[in-house]
Amino acid sequence: MPPPRTRGAALRQQLAELRGPDVPAKALDARALAALAANPGCKRRAILDGAGVNKAALAGALGSPSVFGQSQFAFTRGNAFESRVKADGGAELLRLAHEKLDPGAEPPARARVPELSAIGPEGRAARTALALREAVEAGGWTLLDHPMVALDVAGSPAFLEPDAVVVHPDGSWTVVEIKSFPMLDGSADPAKVGAAARQAAVYVLALEVVAAKLQPAPPVRHRILLVCPKDFSNLPTASAVDVRKQRAVTRRQLARLTRLQDIAEALPEGTCFSPELPPAELTAAVESVPATYAPECLSACELAFHCRDRSRAAGAVTSLGRSVRAELGGLSTVGDVLAAARGEAGDPQDPAVAALRRAAHLRAEATGDAPEPRARSEARQPTEAPGRRQHPESVEAAPCR
Ligand code: SF4
Repeated sequence: MPPPRTRGAALRQQLAELRGPDVPAKALDARALAALAANPGCKRRAILDGAGVNKAALAGALGSPSVFGQSQFAFTRGNAFESRVKADGGAELLRLAHEKLDPGAEPPARARVPELSAIGPEGRAARTALALREAVEAGGWTLLDHPMVALDVAGSPAFLEPDAVVVHPDGSWTVVEIKSFPMLDGSADPAKVGAAARQAAVYVLALEVVAAKLQPAPPVRHRILLVCPKDFSNLPTASAVDVRKQRAVTRRQLARLTRLQDIAEALPEGTCFSPELPPAELTAAVESVPATYAPECLSACELAFHCRDRSRAAGAVTSLGRSVRAELGGLSTVGDVLAAARGEAGDPQDPAVAALRRAAHLRAEATGDAPEPRARSEARQPTEAPGRRQHPESVEAAPCR
């Protein structure tokens, strides 16, 4: 008799079925996790990412191809720069780590670079954990090139691969992010630095899980090393970036993600997101999972065009932005908002409804469409030609009887 399946194995099987037969899983990277944490209310993204669905392929099959992602040129350039930074056993990278983060420590003359290869992501994560423990015990500088760490995301492990992790002589760990955007006169594009900090915060969280299993737990530094090309050259330069804020936000948002098990159980029987399915069937499968579209999705999720079209078609106010949505309280569609503004629906005591009516009144006054007060309309009757709308100023000028 086969042994009973554990809850984790059953979930993995369920996620594989959602992905589709013989469709390989797309690994979650820190960039995707940071984006997922930026929209924790979206069950659609949570289940698609959790099941390892290739969202770019899915968006293409739905007829709304994504323009989101890194270009092949940027990818190749980034890889070439990273190889340069890590040449000679990471000598330049370690020099930058010493200079920017730990100038009081001994110079990294004979740093260790342990071999981290193993079979499968679980094997690589275990090998990384062992290498980190050995590095702390050995003292001195150690560079871990493309280690693998795991983070629980909505009840399922996500395996993440930082560019590098440096172990300092005092046993502390630093995440290294290598990016191909330039650092001009010591500073880089704040938006790009922010995105890199959010990614690095995910790695910091994952490393803290590894550190917590050691006795005593080595500190994971909250200042990461961001390495970029210097000015317009191909020479590396670096900056220490404090990611405490991003780490706190990401941890809070990841904790808010609905558990994958709960989302998967609420799906109709036989739901599958394979891009091989006919578009109508695929659309029905995607629409069976609730989404929370916001304009921010356009720069963070491959399904953004599809979700935007659906959101607009449904008249959802979230397509106007999260801040607008927050201002409107319980009014969730454009139809509800207009009805409330016209006085056709909504509780007048509701501050959002009251504000909408006031705004509608002010607008009508400005455009001359405001309903006339009774006394004034009576007052102007003798001077107003039938069928002709009078300008508000001429109403003001009409004699009062
Ligand atoms: S684009 Fe759609 S699936 Fe992606 S995060 Fe936004 S709402 Fe969710």
